[in-house]
Amino acid sequence: MTHSHTSLAELYDVAVIGGGINGAGIAADAAGRGLSVFLCEQDDLARHTSSASSKLIHGGLRYLEHYEFRLVREALGEREVLLAKAPHIVRPLRFVLPHRPHLRPAWMIRAGLFLYDHLGTRKTLPGSRSLRFGARSPLKAEIRRGFEYSDCWVDDARLVVLNAMAAREHGAQVQTRTRCLSASRNLDHWHLQLERADGSRFSIRARALVNAAGPWVARFIEIGLQQKAPHGIRLIQGSHLIVPRLYEGEHAYILQNEDRRIVFAIPYLERFTLIGTTDREYQGDPAQVRISEAETDYLLAVVNRHFKRQLSRDCILHSYSGVRPLCNDESADPSAVTRDYTLELSSNPGEPPLLSVFGGKLTTYRRLSEAALERLAPFFPQMGPCWTAGKPLPGGEQMSDSRTLAIQLREHHAWLAPELAQRWATSYGSRAWRLLEGVDGPGDLGEHFGASLHAREVDYLCMQEWAREAEDILWRRSKLGLFLNAEEQERLRAYLGTTARQSECRVLAP
Ligand SMILES: Cc1cc2nc3c(=O)[nH]c(=O)nc-3n(C[C@H](O)[C@H](O)[C@H](O)COP(=O)(O)OP(=O)(O)OC[C@H]3O[C@@H](n4cnc5c(N)ncnc54)[C@H](O)[C@@H]3O)c2cc1C
Repeated sequence: MTHSHTSLAELYDVAVIGGGINGAGIAADAAGRGLSVFLCEQDDLARHTSSASSKLIHGGLRYLEHYEFRLVREALGEREVLLAKAPHIVRPLRFVLPHRPHLRPAWMIRAGLFLYDHLGTRKTLPGSRSLRFGARSPLKAEIRRGFEYSDCWVDDARLVVLNAMAAREHGAQVQTRTRCLSASRNLDHWHLQLERADGSRFSIRARALVNAAGPWVARFIEIGLQQKAPHGIRLIQGSHLIVPRLYEGEHAYILQNEDRRIVFAIPYLERFTLIGTTDREYQGDPAQVRISEAETDYLLAVVNRHFKRQLSRDCILHSYSGVRPLCNDESADPSAVTRDYTLELSSNPGEPPLLSVFGGKLTTYRRLSEAALERLAPFFPQMGPCWTAGKPLPGGEQMSDSRTLAIQLREHHAWLAPELAQRWATSYGSRAWRLLEGVDGPGDLGEHFGASLHAREVDYLCMQEWAREAEDILWRRSKLGLFLNAEEQERLRAYLGTTARQSECRVLAP
């Protein structure tokens, strides 16, 4: 199925609104099945919820307490699927659960871990076990026992970009910094009004519309479509702190708090520990969400209750915050609102369909995308079957793990600094070879901005990954924002801001 050029507006099979993980995942799946796809994102890819997560591909041990067996089983199975699809940006992570008997008895945790080990398919990830902590444990002396189990870690923002790239490689049109203002049904298709960041407007047509606007899903139905939303959306804020590395070792901690919530402490970028998250009802503009004083105190207090090393506000290097767009199930407790997703299809006979995505998790985006395409299948009889489970994401082709790839990169490019080889292997997987095409030495990497960032990589990100502004590169395509000082960041801004560069990026942009 191809899109046709008409004097009206380009006609696609599917138009997807939202370049978070769900929109990008659906676009990739649809394009790979032979549908012509258009995706628009009002900001940068993964600018909102999908870069503000705890970055875990996890079954969600605590969801078992809310009897969410379907969600947990599906999520557990996805750990191995995503590990194989994107071994550069997904890696196994062991979790240590310190036991605090007054919060949850040992039998309950053992039963939960037994289910966790057996509910989903587990091929490479080791099972759970009990632990005893010795004198060298970073935990307080009174915490003597605990448990250990497996989940996975993912670079959330890069997962979105790789899905958008997969969509593009299957022919999709991906337009960032393009907001969908409105959409209306016109006989057998939708007519979408779109606006670029420079204020210019254009239209496209689509046989099906997918609303994956995340925190804006209901708002888009009400304002963009002038309809009543079928579900309410609960915005539940969650925040994270980044502090200097709190403990040695490659494992994460899952800490149980007195309010029965859990907080993770996760090793982050070798030098740091990521601490999160909170759960609190949020009423404001999703684009303006910021960590509150109370959340900061809460996270520090949970860590300080568990670890010997005590943290104060001075230890915080960075923080970030996002809102979970959850389907409103009327739960009184924000932690108990379901993390499962709901797909809402609206279409009367003869009308083009509207599919809206409510809720979801990073972990289950691929299954959610399959379910979305299944709902759209009746409208596209020639559409291909499910395909995403066994196919690598861009960069995941022909690689086993990023450590081996980094060694291979240095075997072919002996001048490559080990730190850069490792970072590129972890970020770009086998696409790192493309970054190195025609590069014969450090001189070919171009202007140096700080840390291991050079013009070569910046240009690649502009040309291949839709990067436009410094923040796209510093906080989403990479996390170099944690390593470049203010003056270095300014130099990157100046480089990207030169008219020549902007027009070059636009010309070369995918
Ligand atoms: C604190 C926190 C921790 C989390 N931790 C985890 C975790 O560890 N593991 C996990 O699996 N999940 C986790 N999640 C959940 C996960 O992050 C979300 O479910 C997921 O990112 C939602 O993706 P989305 O695509 O629906 O929304 P988003 O990422 O918000 O994407 C929606 C996009 O739509 C765009 N948009 C909206 N309106 C328009 C319009 N009119 N035109 C064009 N574009 C538009 C927005 O700009 C936005 O980028 C966490 C969430 C939070 C908040």
